Amino acid sequence: CGVVAIHGHPDAARQAYLGLYALQHRGQESAGIATADGQFLANIKGMGLVSEIFTDDVLQKLPGDMAIGHTRYSTTGDSALLNAQPIRVESTKGLIAIAHNGNLVNLGTVRAKLERAGAYFQTTSDSEIIVQLIAHSHAGTLVDAIAESLSQVDGAFSIVMMTRDRVFAARDPRGFRPLSMGRIHNPGGRDTIVFASETCAFDLLRAEYERDVLPGELVMVTEDGVTSRQYSSGVEQTSCIFEHVYFARPDSRIYGRWVQESRDQMGRQLARESHVPSDVIVPVPDSGVTAALGYAEEAGVPFRLGLIRNHYVGRTFIEPEQRVRDFGVKLKLNPVRNLLEGKRVILIDDSIIRGTTSRKIVRMVRGAGAKEVHLRISCPPTISPCFYGVDTPSKRDLIAANKTIDEIREFIEADSLAYLSLDGLQRACGSTPGANTGYCVACYTGNYPTQWVDVEDILPAAA
Ligand code: SF4
Ligand code: MG
Repeated sequence: CGVVAIHGHPDAARQAYLGLYALQHRGQESAGIATADGQFLANIKGMGLVSEIFTDDVLQKLPGDMAIGHTRYSTTGDSALLNAQPIRVESTKGLIAIAHNGNLVNLGTVRAKLERAGAYFQTTSDSEIIVQLIAHSHAGTLVDAIAESLSQVDGAFSIVMMTRDRVFAARDPRGFRPLSMGRIHNPGGRDTIVFASETCAFDLLRAEYERDVLPGELVMVTEDGVTSRQYSSGVEQTSCIFEHVYFARPDSRIYGRWVQESRDQMGRQLARESHVPSDVIVPVPDSGVTAALGYAEEAGVPFRLGLIRNHYVGRTFIEPEQRVRDFGVKLKLNPVRNLLEGKRVILIDDSIIRGTTSRKIVRMVRGAGAKEVHLRISCPPTISPCFYGVDTPSKRDLIAANKTIDEIREFIEADSLAYLSLDGLQRACGSTPGANTGYCVACYTGNYPTQWVDVEDILPAAA
C-alpha cells in the first residue's frame, strides 16, 4: 500500500491526491482521502485508481488544511470497499482516521483481547486494530495512547493518522516499510509538512525530502510544529529488501538509498555471477528495466526493449484474482519480433513467484523467433511467503519452495535460469552480508524477524 499525509496546506485534499497519484504503483485496488479543518473530519474512499475516484467534484467535498490518504493493495482482510482506507473511528479520544501500509502479525490475539474489552470492529482489516487499541487505551493523552498502542502490535506498519487538528506518522520498530517526511516552504507562512511511503511523491508535491521516519518513531505535527518520540528502541532494523527489488519506484530513495542504485547494482552483480554468451539483454518491463540496464552495461551486451508493455493494463501481480493475472500477461506484454528473431536473448526480471507469468514470457520471446532464451532474476529464489505487507502466496504456490532451480527452468521452458545470490542482493542494496544488514530477507531464507507467523502458509506443498 501507499500512504501520504499533509499538514498545513490550504488545499490539503489535492496535495494528498497528487501524493497518492505518485504512489499508485503501491496498490490499485482502492484509494481514500480523509481531510480535517480543525473541526470536521471528512473521509471519501472508493474502489479503483486514485484518478478514477478523486475527480474535481469529489475533491471539493474534502475541505481542510490537513489530509491523509491511502492506496490499497490487499494482503489481509477482504478486498472490498469496507476495508478501503483511511479508516475513521469515533473513540473516547475523539475522531481518528488512520491509513496503514504493512501487515500486523499478532492480529488474532490482539483482536480477541479488544473484543473481550467491548470493541466493535467495523472492518476485517488489520489496520483497524491500531485505532481500536487507541480508543480503548487508558493513557491520559492521545499521543500517549498512540505510543502505547503501537507498542502492543507486532509486525509491519508504516502509518499516518489524523485527528481533527493533528497529524501523526509512525513506523514499526523494525522499519519494515518505508516512510519519509518532507517539507514545502511557503514564503511568508508556515511550512507544509508531508509524509509519504516513497520520496517520488515529494517530487510531485514540490516538497523537499527532510528525513525518514525512523523505525520505532512516532512523529506528531500540530500548529506549533513537529515533535517526535521513540516509542520503541533496541530492536534490530529489518527493512523489506523486496522494496528495492520490486515494490518501490526507482526514482524513490528509501531507507536512505536510491532504489535505482540498488537495482543497477543487482543487475551488475547478476551479470558477474551468471552471464552466458548472448546477443541481446531484454528487460521484462517495467520491473526488470533498471536491473537489465546494469546487467547489459556490466556484460557489455546491447540492451534492447524487446518486450513492449501496454501501460493501460494494471500490474498483473497486484490483481488478487489468479484468473485475471493469467489473462493479463498477453494484454500487457508484446514482443518486438525484429529485435528477437534469431537472437540469443537474456531476459531480466525481478522475481519468479508462481512461475506462470515467466513461462508465458519465455514462450512469447521464443515464439517471436529467439534462438535461445535465458532468464536471469535480480533476487534469490522466493521460497517463503511474506507476512509483512507483500501479497506473496502461501508456500504451496511458490514455485521455488517446491522445485529445484533446474526444475523451475524446465517448467518455464528457458534454456538457462539463474537467480542473484543472497549475498549479491544484500551487497547491491548497500549492506555487508554477514553483518547486521538492516534488511528483512525472510522470503528468500524462511527466517522471519518476528516470532509469530502463520504456520499454515509456510507448510510445504503436499507431495
Ligand atoms: Fe520484504 Fe520478503 Fe521480508 Fe516480506 S518477507 S518484508 S517481502 S523481504
Ligand atoms: Mg514484472
